[in-house]
Amino acid sequence: MKVVDHLKNANQTLFSFELLPPLKGDNIASIYQIINPLMEFKPPYINVTYHQEEVVYKKHSSGLLEKKIVRKRPGTVAISAAIMNRYKIDVVPHIICGGFSREDTENALIDLNFLGIENILAIRGDADKASRRFAPEVDGHVHALELVKQIINLNKGNYIDSELENKTATAFSVGVAGYPEKHNESPNLQSDIMFLKQKIEAGAEYIVTQMFFDNDKYFNFVKICRDNGITVPIIPGIKPISTISQLSALPQTFHIDIPEILAREVAKCKKNEEVRNLGIEWAIEQSKSLIINEVPVIHFYTMGKSDNVEKIAKAVF
Ligand code: FAD
Repeated sequence: MKVVDHLKNANQTLFSFELLPPLKGDNIASIYQIINPLMEFKPPYINVTYHQEEVVYKKHSSGLLEKKIVRKRPGTVAISAAIMNRYKIDVVPHIICGGFSREDTENALIDLNFLGIENILAIRGDADKASRRFAPEVDGHVHALELVKQIINLNKGNYIDSELENKTATAFSVGVAGYPEKHNESPNLQSDIMFLKQKIEAGAEYIVTQMFFDNDKYFNFVKICRDNGITVPIIPGIKPISTISQLSALPQTFHIDIPEILAREVAKCKKNEEVRNLGIEWAIEQSKSLIINEVPVIHFYTMGKSDNVEKIAKAVF
């Protein structure tokens, strides 16, 4: 079933979460260990992130640096299919622009369609850490908007090769990313929302937000979206803070603020375990307030571990 249909059928806030594929070499059982304890909260679907190749530098004893291109977490499509079969649940693989030509994207979409996967979260992918600029693949998409358009085109049976004889139309439902505190490359929130609106006008049916630690940021974002004519569901993304280093890493990586009271409490913690507990308490309060405000779903960022999300879900779902 499509994500939007799950939302339409629900009479209360739903629980959902996203998973990272395991690191290369690891076993798929590690994914099931994350999912198993969360199944009692009846997620209607599970998101699976996509990870592009990255450049890493290996230092040799001579002092020379060797440049290597690695994909640390392959397997998004296969893991999505494995989860769907094992748990009889809908899956939402993330498909990104980075590393994909339009042809690669089309082939990935064909695979997803053959597997019976109906949902896709269409995103651009991050900029390269070193250059801080997003570099599209040759003949790839520069923005998620173009990826949304390609998927919606395939839903109409439009393939890159217009002369194909049999053109099966797909029926994907597409979600896109939104940023309550604006995307880090965007000059301002209004400009970001203008581009977000273009993704919706192109056919995306819902928005999943970047993590935020202050619900007012989310409520304000929803209001601005509505004022700008964006009417689709806006699913809040919640990440429980879990380590001391995230106090600076999260704002730097995701361009988000950590509220002063939370930052002060994290700074007092001596061990990550204390931060983890604090993060659980904070996320429980955030979730309770989102539920009171009748959000359709809460999307939890697990970042590869589910013990904290399980405690939060137990307290609120
Ligand atoms: P876009 O919509 O392309 O926007 C990127 C920037 O360009 C924004 O500043 C926007 O304002 C601007 N922009 C958009 N369209 C135009 C245009 N036509 N002209 C000029 N400027 C424009 N990353 C991964 O690598 N894998 C994942 O699985 C993943 N999952 C994510 C899930 C969620 C819910 C979220 C919120 C993020 C996720 N990301 C993931 C991170 C995402 O790839 C980055 O945030 C990326 O930098 C932007 O992606 P986007 O789809 O929002 O890009």
